Amino acid sequence: MRNLWSESEAQGKNELDTLVYQSRLIGADTSLVVWGGGNTSIKSTVKDFRGRHVEALVVKGSGSDMKSIERKHFPSLRLDDTLALFDRDAMTDDEMVEYLGMCMLDPKAPRPSIETLLHAFLPFNSVAHSHADAIVSLTNTRECLDILKAVYGKKVSWVEYIRPGFKLSKLVGQTVKANPKVDGIILINHGLFTWGGDARQTYDRHIDIVTKAEEYIVSKSRGKAVFNVVKSRALPDDRRRALAAALAPTLRGAVSRKQGVVLRYDDAADILEFVNSKEAAELSQIGPATPDHTLQTKIKPMWVELDNPDDIEASKKQIKAAADQYADDYAAWYQANTDNKHPMLDPYPRVILAPGLGMWSTGKDARAALIAGDIYHHTISVLKSASAIGHYSSLSDKDSYDVEYWPMELYKLTLLPPDRELSRKVALVTGAASGIGLGIARRLAADGAHVFLTDIDADGVHKLAEELNKKHGYNRAAACVMDVTNEENVADAFRQLRLAYGGLDVLVSNAGIASAGAVHDLPLKDWQRSFDVNATGHFLVSREAVRLMRQQGMGGSIVFIGTRNITSPGNDFSAYSASKAAEAQLGKVIALENASHGIRCNIINPDAVFEGSKLWSRDIMEQRAKTHGTTVEKLPDFYRQRNMLKVQITPADVAEIVVLFAGSRAAKTTGAMFPLDGGIKDAFVR
Ligand code: ZN
Repeated sequence: MRNLWSESEAQGKNELDTLVYQSRLIGADTSLVVWGGGNTSIKSTVKDFRGRHVEALVVKGSGSDMKSIERKHFPSLRLDDTLALFDRDAMTDDEMVEYLGMCMLDPKAPRPSIETLLHAFLPFNSVAHSHADAIVSLTNTRECLDILKAVYGKKVSWVEYIRPGFKLSKLVGQTVKANPKVDGIILINHGLFTWGGDARQTYDRHIDIVTKAEEYIVSKSRGKAVFNVVKSRALPDDRRRALAAALAPTLRGAVSRKQGVVLRYDDAADILEFVNSKEAAELSQIGPATPDHTLQTKIKPMWVELDNPDDIEASKKQIKAAADQYADDYAAWYQANTDNKHPMLDPYPRVILAPGLGMWSTGKDARAALIAGDIYHHTISVLKSASAIGHYSSLSDKDSYDVEYWPMELYKLTLLPPDRELSRKVALVTGAASGIGLGIARRLAADGAHVFLTDIDADGVHKLAEELNKKHGYNRAAACVMDVTNEENVADAFRQLRLAYGGLDVLVSNAGIASAGAVHDLPLKDWQRSFDVNATGHFLVSREAVRLMRQQGMGGSIVFIGTRNITSPGNDFSAYSASKAAEAQLGKVIALENASHGIRCNIINPDAVFEGSKLWSRDIMEQRAKTHGTTVEKLPDFYRQRNMLKVQITPADVAEIVVLFAGSRAAKTTGAMFPLDGGIKDAFVR
């Protein structure tokens, strides 16, 4: 492992800024810590609220991510009060958290890390802790103690596995007091602590100790094939992805029975090497690398080996059976270990491994699925190294239970913001780059959905995806160029959707065009083009959506964006009115055919939405102005004046009704037509 400390960068920084610098160096290396794991501290003189100098422990706040940590993420605690706890014999987590809260110099600072006492009880100015892959590779072996002796001799101490808390902190403090000459201490099945006179010395020792572990692993791995790939499991890229896309909705449905999740598909080289190996079936089921990982990946992944991946129907059955088996096993494990203080969590897996195909990770959103997947890459690295030097071993069932049902962590879950109306859902919007579609996409994302944005305007959808991801978080939107009139194009977009999120809950079929002209002089090509987009387009997209939703078995909501013209057609607008009427009839048939699958289809009929619209081209504006005996400039006002409420309809108005139909508030409505026109008697639905 490379030592990345740069004296020129660290120079001139005060103690706290040097701690931030050191923490970021550790956080930037994912083989040391991932996603909020690890922690660092210094003992220093800090000013209290009255400006008095106080000896304090400055330690990482709970849950902050080291790679992007800032000064404000380090609360300070009075050291004398904190150290007084060393004389106690025992303390519950709750007592410890309450006590540490009293020691804080700024009560509004973030809650200190659960490993705070461990930092306090180590009598050194600077302390750093990681869950380094290489260290847990050594400790997660049956041969662990012999290996640690061989690698470190008397330079490093170690303690047995105990869940973080008072007891572990005291044990580590006592062990180091008894061996004051060591440079660090290894926590078996957990990670490494090092210390020093300053942040640099602590970091140097950390890197040295991890490097020794890495060198040992390399020396023992030489000439050894650890993962023996089974040839028949390795599929060509195209076939593997096509199969993954075909099967993903079945998997999403099967693992979403307790609560909805999105899937993340991953077929990176290290994943494939592992899942395609002879050893993976057994190795993957032993247990997590470190307790920190358990919270994201559960104790073990689901393993599903398809007898014949090309037999899609048989494979779907196998996937469902494997998910049910996983949930049954989880429930049995919960029953065997529970103290009945906390109800069972979602029994479905967070990581799914399938030989030939790769890995899916799941989560309440794309970010959570990414974290679970990222962590499993490290689990594989640990499994590989541990297998090269010995036999992989992990926490006991009881220890794993105590981590997943750790009251401290369960409490953290209660602090998370509640789900939004469309959280855990995936929506596809056609014509998303402008006008009504753009307004709908923004609103769906704001209400918690993942949005798969499609349009023929490549620039438009990519820009919008960027905007939504920046605003709402990792991969909350994905962009795809799709022409709704092209069968192969639509099928291909749905393949991408299946790989991106695993499935679909909401289709907003919105893309449309306007075409003006009276019947007597309308060219056939204009008529046909209108039907291609406004009728066939909805057919092709909703056909794929219905197929996917039926396979997924989670119901679904399809929303067609119609028009006021459906119930109240206008002069010189024949192709538009007739093709949109065909769309509406299609929507009603979809409602009829799919109600038994819990799939609803409703139609919204807005009148004249001008904001950001491409449908209202200059030509169309001129033609409609002529028909209505007004000018282009006065056209929006003409539409406003002709409705009873005298209002202008906007994309945001349409989005409001889309969200209503998309979510559970309209769970009992299907086949409905919703006028959104400010009240036009002529367009009343009857
Ligand atoms: Zn830890």
